[in-house]
This record gives sequence, structure tokens and C-alpha cells, in this order.
Amino acid sequence: MKQLITGIMILVSLAFIWSCKPNRTFSESEIALIPQVQKMTLGESSFKFKKSTKLVVESVDQEVIARQFAGLFEKSSGWKLQVVVGGNEGSNQVYFKTEPVMAPEGYILEVQKDRIEIKAAKPAGFFYATQTLRQLLPVEIESAQKQNNIDWLVPVVSINDNPAFKWRGFMLDVVRHFFPKEDILRMIDNLALHKINTLHLHLVDDQGWRIEIKKYPKLTEVGAWRVNHEDKPWNSRPKQQAGEKATFGGFYTQDDIKKIVAYAQSHFITVVPEIEMPAHVTCALAAYPQFSCKGGPFTVPSGGLWPITDIYCAGNDSTFLFLQDVLSEVIDLFPSKYIHVGGDEATKTEWEKCPKCKARIRTEGLKNVGELQSYFMKRMEKFVNSKGRTLLGWDEILEGGLPAEATVMSWRGMQGGIDAAKQGHDVVMTPNSYVYFDYYQGPKDQEPLAIGGYLPLSTVYTFNPVPKELNAEEAKHIIGGQANLWTEYVPTFKHVEYMTFPRIAALAEAVWSSGEVRNWESFSHRIQLFMKRYDLMGINYSKSAYAVMAKPGFDPVKKQLAVALKSELAGLEIHYTTDGSEPTNLSTTYSEPVLLDKTSTLKAVTFSDGIPVGKSMTQSFNMNKATVKPVKYVIPYSENYPGSGEYTLVNGVRGSTSHSDGEWQAWEGKNMEVVIDLQQATEIHTISVGSLQNIGAWIFLPRKMEYFVSNDGVNFKKVAEKVNEADPLSGENQLKDFTVEFTPVSANFVKVIAYNLGKASKGHMGAGQNAWMFIDEIAVE
Ligand SMILES: [Zn+2]
Repeated sequence: MKQLITGIMILVSLAFIWSCKPNRTFSESEIALIPQVQKMTLGESSFKFKKSTKLVVESVDQEVIARQFAGLFEKSSGWKLQVVVGGNEGSNQVYFKTEPVMAPEGYILEVQKDRIEIKAAKPAGFFYATQTLRQLLPVEIESAQKQNNIDWLVPVVSINDNPAFKWRGFMLDVVRHFFPKEDILRMIDNLALHKINTLHLHLVDDQGWRIEIKKYPKLTEVGAWRVNHEDKPWNSRPKQQAGEKATFGGFYTQDDIKKIVAYAQSHFITVVPEIEMPAHVTCALAAYPQFSCKGGPFTVPSGGLWPITDIYCAGNDSTFLFLQDVLSEVIDLFPSKYIHVGGDEATKTEWEKCPKCKARIRTEGLKNVGELQSYFMKRMEKFVNSKGRTLLGWDEILEGGLPAEATVMSWRGMQGGIDAAKQGHDVVMTPNSYVYFDYYQGPKDQEPLAIGGYLPLSTVYTFNPVPKELNAEEAKHIIGGQANLWTEYVPTFKHVEYMTFPRIAALAEAVWSSGEVRNWESFSHRIQLFMKRYDLMGINYSKSAYAVMAKPGFDPVKKQLAVALKSELAGLEIHYTTDGSEPTNLSTTYSEPVLLDKTSTLKAVTFSDGIPVGKSMTQSFNMNKATVKPVKYVIPYSENYPGSGEYTLVNGVRGSTSHSDGEWQAWEGKNMEVVIDLQQATEIHTISVGSLQNIGAWIFLPRKMEYFVSNDGVNFKKVAEKVNEADPLSGENQLKDFTVEFTPVSANFVKVIAYNLGKASKGHMGAGQNAWMFIDEIAVE
């Protein structure tokens, strides 16, 4: 008996010790909060969520937020955490406490061993605190399936957080491709995790009208549909022919919009509608041609349309009445303070011809069609203001004079925003130089077709919405920043996610976290942990930042081509091969630039903990007698196209048909004249020069090539020339090598002159203006 009692006592005390076992302590490297919080102190031990953990709140507003948070637990743990309105503080509780003197979106989150306290002034602050708490929990909290054997621990931590900017936005173009309501709701879920608070919906553009307007049903009956030419490139889709049915598109009913707006509100996201004017409205003119200058008929274009000349008539009062009716319905649906009216890219050639527009210019005492657009915008602003809202437009609305109270969205870089802020207007920064998510985010040959550009994660991360040109007073007008996703080349919602994530995480940090806590190394580490959350959330995010990038250079000691390898994300291992085989974790580990002395194919992959994480990079290096020899530029290349620097023409790497891939050097209106120093007497018989033609980008092939050799670098002898007889305007995007063979000679120097077309030919859209010439490589054998 005594033995039994002793046994029971041992068991009881074991159980006691077990239940009092201190929860484990977390290290900072295990915590991946995005956007980074402004102030965090990590303590010892952790709080453990249990089935019995209670959420204690003060009000119904808070209750809604607490229930949303409890909903995550219900999915992933199967527990229904109790939410109690009112009640005493106690252990095993998460309690919400109003702290009136805090910023509207700020919060304090105190995690202790036995309780969690959240303080905020407003519901938004409580909501963001729960998003942070969510990110402190194991990633399995994101799972839609019940997870077993998870310790739902949250590190003991004290966080005081508050966003740097009040506008933290994401724009989705639902016109170029339409995404149904369910996709938008899913996007709202995923934006909320990143504490994004504005969803700007681009609802109108040439290729479709996406919102039901009861007074003008044809806007969606006609304007929401186009002929399905999805199998053709965006910019070469034919016009709708007589008899062809427009079946591709879609729109949101007013009921859909109400649901989207309400769902966004419950995630503390404001939906800002954009109704374009006076241009980008071919869909509206197809439905109601009477609001154009010419009167139509028009069809909804299936793809690219440029320039945009068919726009709303600014001389016709009924146009304004129509737009006021449209905006009235829009304003009733969207509680947003800001109503976006576009205003971009209007080509005003029809206004110049239209008698009504000309009359308007006269009667209003305007100078030109530029001022007529300003008149248009000011008139619409009066209406928007009469409804208690603020007009927002793209930076083109600066031209001809800004409406009095307008807020500007600066997209053509930062300059429009700088000008507007200096004039005392509020600005949202959305520069295409940092936050255009339709641009490529990785090496082009590894990415789905995109519109162009190159904005990898690390570039988005460097976005600072406040340009240094502004003084402190002017800087106050920068109310925030936003990423824009145009969808010409983004046909599916999976693709939308691919373009958005993880770049939105970098944007979120740029607009939430202030300068001191922002750090690429840290973000680089956190985003990799965060991607595990994306995995469980089923987000189709891009892994492009894991790609390896190769930068060929010159090793001055070994006098060899030296290729530096780098992955965008920090803290990864790179393994590579030079024999064309696929790298494994047993292949050479990269530590310093790879020396190459013969023609090679370099392949490289990033690894994390021995597992390959990026796509395989392949780069061929063609070694010849000119490789990494000094190049002297008699005529300098354009500063805009330096290629990869001084060895670009002799680094053994060929350019692609993309002229901005970093392998091309360019001359604007000028010839190329370069001298390659072979550094010793060398027998040569072949010289090859690589060039590019892309007529749409004003890039023309050289007209003539001259090749010289020299032994002293002073006196040159011409050994060959090649004349290009082809019509400069014929042919598509193409690469062309100008290769000559000659009787072998001994040379210390080689000179090449490539003759530029000079001016773009007659019949070209840039006729008479400087022609560009692009050269990627000079090979000598
Ligand atoms: Zn007109």
C-alpha cells in the first residue's frame, strides 16, 4: 500500500512538474514578422494557447476582430476559442483593452507567460495586433486542415507598433483581365495579413467596363465584353469584325461590389474605385458613342490600343451629366473618401478637331487642349467634392493645372508626386521604377511573359515613398505608397498571385515600417520563413528571388574571365558546375568568382539546408582571343545602356532579344568605334560583332561595319568591311552577327567601327529622330 501511495505521489508530482514545465524561449531568428514592427523586445519563455484559452474583449467591435482570430484556430486546431465580451482579466486569456491616446492604427501587444494583452485606440489597431499575433504563432495556424501535435506557442514579447504611412495600397487591374468576386475576396484575405489597408480596383479601361451602372445598362451589356483573342499577343489582336461575338470579359454586379466592400471593411481595407476619364474608355464609347467627339461606332478592343485618341468629348455637356450619374452610383457603393478618376494617357487629337471641344476652349478662355483636360478634371472634381469625397487621379492631372483639392497618384516615377507635393497637394507614390508588379521579377528566360521592365524583390524593398527632394513640410503631403498590378499579361488569378507575392511583402514593409527597422538582410531571412505561411495559405507566390544571377568580370591577377554568382535572397548556398551537368548539393560550393579559361556552360542553383530552392541558372561563355581584353571606346556608349560595364563587349556572354538584359551597350544616333587591345601579337582571321534589331523600340541594325588591325595601336589597316543592304524597317525583333573572315594576320590591336543608321527612317514612328544601335559582343579568332 505504501508503495502504491508512493507511486501515485511520484506520478502526481511528475504531472505537476510536467504542467509547470516552462515553455520554451524563442530566438529572434525564429520570429518572422512582415511588415517588421517598429519596436519589439523579446523575453524568456512563451505563452501557450490551449483549448480553454479565452479571448476577453470590451465591445462588439472588438468581438468581431477576436472572432476572426479565433476562426484561424478553429480551422487549424479544431478548437473553438471562447470569446467573451466584458469580464475580468485572468490567466490563460487574451484580453483587449482600449487605450485612447494611441495612433488610430497603432497597437501594443504584450505577451506574457500566462496571458496576452492587446492595447489599441481603435478597432484597426486591435485588428493589426491580431495579425501580428497570428504571425508569432507557428505557421500551421494558416492551415485549412486540422493539425495535430502542434504546440501553439507565442514567444514572450513586448511590441509597440504603428504604421509609417496611412495609405498602404495595392491596385489590381480587373479590366485587361477580369477576376471574379471570389478572387478579390481571397486577395483581401492575403493583403490583410500584410497590413495593407487600401485596395484600388481599376474598374474601367479600354478593354472593358467592370461595374454595373443601373442607369446605363449598356456599359456592362456591351462594354464588359470583347472578342476572345487570348491566343494572340496582347499588342497584335485584331479589331472586332462584323458578325463576331464578344464573349470574353465579365463585370461585378452592384451586389458583388457591396459584398467586396463589406468583406474588405471587415479586414480594415478600404476599396478605392477607379472610373477612368477622359481616355481609356473605348468600352464606354462602344456602349454610348454619343459621348465621344466623332460619334463612333466603336468596338471594345481585345488587346492593346495606342495611342488612345477616342476619348470622352469635353465640349458636350451631356458627357458630364453621364459621368456624374455614373459617379453617383459609384459613390453610393464605395464609402472610400477617395474617388479615382484616372486622367492618364489622353491623346487629344480629336479634341483639337471637334467643334464642340473647340467652342469649349473659346468660351472658357482656355489656351489649349491641355487646359481643356484640366477643365474636365476640375469640373468632375466639383461634383466629387459636392458628394463629400476627394478626387484622386494619375499624375497627368497635373498638366494644364491641378484641380484645387485633388490628390495625385504618381506613377511615371516620383516627379509628378514631387511637383504635386510642392504645390501643396496630397500624393500617393506608385512609381513604375519601384512598385509596378507587372514588371519581371527574375531573369527573363525563367519567368512567364511580362510587359517588360525588371523589378526584383530587392528593388521593391528599397522603395521609399518620400523622395529626398522634399523638405519636411512638403513630405507631409506624401500619404503613402502603393503597388500596381496591370494585367495585360496576367490572364489568371494564379498568375496575379505570382506577380504579387512576395513583392507585396516588400511593399508592405516600405509603407508600414520606418527607416530604422528596415534591413534587407533581415527581410531576406524573414521572407523565407514567411513563404512557409504562403505555402499553407495556398498562395501561388514567386520563388524568383531564389534565382542565381551571374555577373562576368575580370580577375586582374589571373588575367581570366571571373564570373561572380549571387542569389538575391541572403543566406543561401550556391552550388555550380561548369561541364553542363545539373548542380546537386555535392557540386562545388560557390565562394569566390568562378574562373573560366575555355568555352563553358555554367550552371548554378541555390540551396537552403541542402535542398535546392531556386530554378537552375544556365549561362554559356564563349571564349575567344578578345575575351576580357581591354576595350577602348573612341565614341562612348549611352549612359542609359552601359551593359554590364567595361568588359560587356568581350565577356563571352551574348545578349538576348531583350535590349535591357544588361548585356547590350548602345549608341544613340552615333557610331560605335572601339579598339580591343589583344596585349600581344596574335594571329587572327575572323571578327564577329553581335547586334540587335527591335524597330518598335527604335533599335536598328548597323548599316556598315569596318574592321581594322594594328600592331602599335596608332596605325590601323582595314582588313574587311561589311555593308548591310537590308531595308532598315523590315524584319522583326532579331539578333544579327556581322562576321568577316580574312587572310590570317598578326595583330596587337583590333578596331571595329559600326555605322549607326543615324536618324530613324521615313515611315517609322520616330522618323527623323535619333536611331539606336545595340552591340553585345565582339569575338576574335
Ligand atoms: Zn469633342
